[in-house]
Amino acid sequence: MTTVSSPSRRDFLRTAPAGVAAFGTTFLGSAMSGEPPAPRIIDPHVHVWKNDAKYPWPKELARPPKEDALPSTLSELMKANGVEKTVIVHVIHYKWDCRYAGDTIKGQRDKFMGVCRVDPTADSAVEDLNHWVKEYGFHGVRLSPAAGESGDWINDKEAAELKIPMCILCPSTRLPDVGKVIERHKDDLDICIDHMADCAIDKPDELKNLLVLAKFPRVFVKISHLWSLSGEKYPYKDTYGQVKKVYGAFGPKRLMWGTDWPMVEKYCSYAKALVLYRDELPFFTAEDRRWILGETALKLWPFA
Ligand SMILES: [Zn+2]
Repeated sequence: MTTVSSPSRRDFLRTAPAGVAAFGTTFLGSAMSGEPPAPRIIDPHVHVWKNDAKYPWPKELARPPKEDALPSTLSELMKANGVEKTVIVHVIHYKWDCRYAGDTIKGQRDKFMGVCRVDPTADSAVEDLNHWVKEYGFHGVRLSPAAGESGDWINDKEAAELKIPMCILCPSTRLPDVGKVIERHKDDLDICIDHMADCAIDKPDELKNLLVLAKFPRVFVKISHLWSLSGEKYPYKDTYGQVKKVYGAFGPKRLMWGTDWPMVEKYCSYAKALVLYRDELPFFTAEDRRWILGETALKLWPFA
C-alpha cells in the first residue's frame, strides 16, 4: 500500500543523473568532455508515515491518511532518481509523537536525517526537544507558528545550544516575528524558512518580509512548493520571477530545493520535482544548481 506509482522509464531516463548511468553514455560523455561531475542530490524535505498500531494516530486526528508513505517506497524513488540522501521531517499527523520518523532514521544516518517537532506551548518543550535529539538523533526542529498570536515559540535558545537547525513553516505575515527570534540568535542558530513561507506570487509586498531576512547570514530558504504557488501547469513558470528575487537576495548557497514527498505526488511527481530544479529555472548556473540541489543541505545536515 503506497501513495506512489513507480517512475516510468521515460521519467527515469529524463531524470537519471550521471551517477545513475555510471556505465552509460551520460557518464562517459561527461568525463570525456571535461564537464564538472553531476551535482550531489540531497532532498531536504520529505515525510513518512505508516498505519501501524505501534505508532497510533492521535485521537483528535479526524481523517488519518489511508495510504502509507513508507521509507521503502521513498528509498526506491531516491534510487531511481539519483537522490543520495534525504531529510525526513516529522509529519504533523502524529502530533508530537516523532517515533516513526525517529525509528526510520535510527542507524541510517548515511541516508536519512530527521527534523522533529515539539509542542512549543508545553511546559516540557525543552525536555521534549532534548529527548528527540539525544535519544533518536533528530537534527532540527520544525515550528509552524500560525497566522495569529497562538503557538508561541519554543525555547529557541535550546535549539541554538543543541546546534540544530530550526525549520519554520509559517505564513509570510509571521516572518517579522521570525526575524525577532533570529535577531536573538543570529550568530548561533541556523534557520530555514520552508517553502518560501508560501508567499503568494502576486503579492510582492509580502515577499519583502522574506527578502529582508537575507541580512542574517544564517537564514536559509527552501524554494520548494512552486506547484502550490503557481496558477499554471508544470513547470510553473509564473513562479520564476519570485524565485529569482529570493535567489538574488539569498544567493544559491542559502537555497535548497525539496520534493515534499509524498505531498508532491498530488501536483507533479517526485521525479518531475527534481527535474524542475535541475533542468528548468533557466537563470540558475550549473554551480548554483550544485548548491541548491545538495551542497546547501549538506551544510545544515551532517549526514554520516
Ligand atoms: Zn511538508
